[in-house]
Amino acid sequence: MHGTMMDTQLTVPTILERIRTQYAPREVVSLLVAGRDEAGNPIAHKHRTTYGQVADRARRLAGGLLGLGLQKGDRVATLAVNSFRHLEAYLGVPSAGLVLHTVNIRLHPEQIGWILNHAEDRVLLIENVFAAMIPTIKAACPRLEHILILGPTPQPIPLPGVHDYDTFVMGSEPLTRYPDLNEHDAAAMCYTSGTTGNPKGVIYTHRSTVLHSIVSAPKDALNVGERDSVLPIVPMFHVNAWGLPYTCALYGAKQVYAGVFSDGRTVATLLQDEAVTITAGVPTIWMGLLAELDRAAAAGEPYQLSGLERLVVGGSAAPESMIRAFQRHKLDMLQAWGMTETHPLGTASGVPVGVDPTSDEGFALRAKQGRPVPLIELGLIDEAGQPLPHDGQTMGRLIIRGPWVANAYFKGEGQSNFFEIDGQLWFDTGDIATLDDRGYMHIQDRAKDLIKSGGEWISSVDLENAIMAHPAVAQCAVIAMDHPKWDERPLAVVVPREGQSVTHAELVDFIAPKFARWWLPDATVMAESLPIGATGKFLKRELREQYRGHSAA
Ligand code: ADP
Repeated sequence: MHGTMMDTQLTVPTILERIRTQYAPREVVSLLVAGRDEAGNPIAHKHRTTYGQVADRARRLAGGLLGLGLQKGDRVATLAVNSFRHLEAYLGVPSAGLVLHTVNIRLHPEQIGWILNHAEDRVLLIENVFAAMIPTIKAACPRLEHILILGPTPQPIPLPGVHDYDTFVMGSEPLTRYPDLNEHDAAAMCYTSGTTGNPKGVIYTHRSTVLHSIVSAPKDALNVGERDSVLPIVPMFHVNAWGLPYTCALYGAKQVYAGVFSDGRTVATLLQDEAVTITAGVPTIWMGLLAELDRAAAAGEPYQLSGLERLVVGGSAAPESMIRAFQRHKLDMLQAWGMTETHPLGTASGVPVGVDPTSDEGFALRAKQGRPVPLIELGLIDEAGQPLPHDGQTMGRLIIRGPWVANAYFKGEGQSNFFEIDGQLWFDTGDIATLDDRGYMHIQDRAKDLIKSGGEWISSVDLENAIMAHPAVAQCAVIAMDHPKWDERPLAVVVPREGQSVTHAELVDFIAPKFARWWLPDATVMAESLPIGATGKFLKRELREQYRGHSAA
């Protein structure tokens, strides 16, 4: 028997229409680059607009793009920072039936060209600060027909097909009748950041975008509602800024964007001045903010952040010491886990009823990646694909399924990551994790970063988090080094805090109470900095290259 409910389609124009008709006065604040100081550093200028204006310009962008002859399903790329213009593209491009392809601005130009060609992008929206790349991009990407520059340039770029975005938008008629869209149509695409092989394209549907927004908002997830002011530091080119631009628009939250600025002082000031209630970013960003909050507090001029309800951290593991350090500033950090293939929200690490979030048990749970959000299922399998127990101890490959989890990559690449168990499709995350009987997931490593010592696994993430709790340590990455007897043994690469020093023996003594003896690193090397990749994570691949031949002796 069929139910008797309507089958209305879940599509991005619904979100655009909401901000246009219900939240028009709500603000969108962006830090733009107003010029450069003598040292060449960007000077910030604060731009304020409203959802009403964003909606109008998004509909004009949609109308203008269709006027260029683009057809349903054509890709429109962005190479842009977080700002109101990027938000217009988020809403306008999919509402025209086109596919928003956000490209990581920190990639090498050659890789950017490769991705634009692979996605067969027809139009590119490029931030003015990257305008110098246009001739190279045009030469590398013959399929690209039009390039729109976001923000003013000192002089027009006299190349065919290159336009000023604002002029283009304001010169176009707004799209008033959206094309017929099926909720399974493509809305956006994102490439994996390639820390594991060649980048692969993931294509989000209208349905997955809307469902992900609905599930991200409740208080046990990211906690976004109409009264919130949200600063996503996570870039809009990285898994749709964890979906926040759509989630905020759907629920009417104010959006605040920091553009090219991510230093602790600018972020802290923006959080304070824009009365931000929720912010989100990777651990490296929060390290910078923490240093600035500590500095300001020590100088007797602390920031006023009493309205800041939640700092969301994800992208790589948040050390427990960092979660505790923010709590000392009375700030709550919520860890979330996900990946490009999962839109990204998979888990969030709130504590269950009955556990005080600021107790030792509470901090330990918050340092795990958390429980799956509604509609997401997680599983653990061994190398042979057999299910493993959820006992909080057994490490295995983490698998996932749900309505906003990819079922394939663009052009059918990487098919081996998708497989069936009892007729149900699952995605192999490439993460090694434990699951416990309450549903808490704890990432131990990426499969390729795991240290295999004498046939047993050692979690580099656990060691790093423990070492980073040492007061003399600013950053730490643990990698495998070759060993004649055990195959691999852990090597700690440590960046000491400024003016401090620490020895291998001191570090080992410090973490020894937490680990079996055979887990402890055999050696520690001091480094001035750690290589950081395009999405703010430590590049372990580079570190492994660098220290391949290192031995404990
Ligand atoms: P890539 O897979 O290319 O690194 P993603 O941005 O999709 O690009 O990264 C997803 C990966 O990041 C996850 O598979 C996981 O290993 C890691 N990750 C994300 N969030 C967390 C977290 N909270 N704790 C630990 N690891 C995380």
